[in-house]
Amino acid sequence: MSNPINQKRDDVIMTDEQLLILSQKFPHLFSQHTHEENRNLADISRFTDAIKQLISLCGDDPERDGLQETPFRVLKAFLEYTEGYHEDPSIHLEKTFDIHHKGLILIKDIEFYSLCEHHFSPFFGVAHIGYIPKEKITGLSKMGRLVEGYAKRFQVQERLTTQIAEAIEKVLEPEGTIVVVEAKHMCMCSRGIKKVNTVTTTSSLLGIYENRPDLRAEFYSLIKNKRE
Ligand SMILES: [Zn+2]
Repeated sequence: MSNPINQKRDDVIMTDEQLLILSQKFPHLFSQHTHEENRNLADISRFTDAIKQLISLCGDDPERDGLQETPFRVLKAFLEYTEGYHEDPSIHLEKTFDIHHKGLILIKDIEFYSLCEHHFSPFFGVAHIGYIPKEKITGLSKMGRLVEGYAKRFQVQERLTTQIAEAIEKVLEPEGTIVVVEAKHMCMCSRGIKKVNTVTTTSSLLGIYENRPDLRAEFYSLIKNKRE
């Protein structure tokens, strides 16, 4: 693959091999049209340049051995952390089964990793999803894909929780949906107030869960059981 950016510049931003890796793993960055491709390559080189400057600002030398490939690695990592932007996660729920089940379906401890949109620092934890179906039931594994699709974006925990609940509501049309997310935020653990063990809990209640405290209590007691 030709590398017009590198040809134009004295300092080599990215090797042809690195560009090849990017174009294979993240084809959406590279359009068929030469004009678009050049624009994307320019964007990529600006990003890696900026990471170099960030390294300098933090007080290290971007040219030393261990850091030379870091801008490329950071770019690749960010593209992986944000793969959720390229899908509609609710699509995973669309394969449904017609099973007669009127009670709660609970999927708990769905692990996720996300990036806080305020600091680009990780937040991670578990999501617990409950719904009381009307007619449609989805496969249990689909909930993991749903959570991952929304987690792999620049996020805040509150929005992540709501998006999961709303997707279930929209696609499965259940009697009610309840989602609880428990997460640790590295931006709280490692900087500022430094509360290492703080877990933030958020919840979203839809449908029947909005006015049935007994059903909420059932859900909360079931997700609490795991730790005892
Ligand atoms: Zn943050």
